[in-house]
Amino acid sequence: LLTARGIEKSFGANHVLRGVDLDVRRGDVVALIGASGSGKTTVLRSLNGLETPDAGVLELAGGPVVDFGAQAAAAGPGWFGNRTARAAAKANRAALRDRSAMVFQHHNLFPHRTVLENVIEGPCQVQGVPRATATGRAEELLARVGLTEKRDAYPHQLSGGQQQRVGIVRALALQPDLLLFDEPTSALDPELVGEVLTVMKELADEGWTMVVVTHELSFARQVANQVLFLDGGVVVEHGTPEQIFTAPAEERTRRFLDRIL
Ligand code: ATP
Repeated sequence: LLTARGIEKSFGANHVLRGVDLDVRRGDVVALIGASGSGKTTVLRSLNGLETPDAGVLELAGGPVVDFGAQAAAAGPGWFGNRTARAAAKANRAALRDRSAMVFQHHNLFPHRTVLENVIEGPCQVQGVPRATATGRAEELLARVGLTEKRDAYPHQLSGGQQQRVGIVRALALQPDLLLFDEPTSALDPELVGEVLTVMKELADEGWTMVVVTHELSFARQVANQVLFLDGGVVVEHGTPEQIFTAPAEERTRRFLDRIL
């Protein structure tokens, strides 16, 4: 479904990604693990156009092959660069974004809209889905995560775990090919983490393709079928959960796991 090769990204002098490769097949659950600052979130944001890498190639099945280095070179420096190339880069970002939906660390719900309005906003405004169709779908999804009663509530009337479940429903309502999760439980009180992980596990069981940045190593171990350990902007080790958690080949992975587990 998705192939990334040699993804590089710097923020000023901070070289955050130094050649990251990733292969996601349909139905995969890919966990990105690693210490704070290792570049996990930047990888995730690069996959859906929220971040534009400086170099590397990204290909989404049925979409454009985006060569970020060539794209940047064609666009040229500054605001007065090549307009056509800039328009092409923008179209590439839109193509990536259309295919995926992101669940953030903080749910990012609109505070003055109800749960239902939050969920149908994307389908109606961005995808042009008729309101009645979007509402029907939203109600089904809310029922699936046990939030039927909260349909007309406002985000501040929900617990953190419920808000995050709405965040997940909002992503699902876009019917994306790829679900991206950026540490979806790390801002929650410990007793609320389980309900969100349960929903994520159900989605994995249903066959959704997911890339998950997580500090929840037991989730990565139980639910993911691929685990990537990042350190210093490179994928130090990549394998099945069994390989990574029970027999890590790299010293850096062992040290990280020893610190956390
Ligand atoms: P965490 O687990 O703490 O979220 P992470 O592994 O996800 O960490 P990233 O968030 O990808 O790491 O950040 C990697 C590095 O990039 C950090 O040094 C961070 O300060 C820097 N960085 C990330 N986004 C930006 C940005 N928009 N502008 C400048 N620097 C950034």
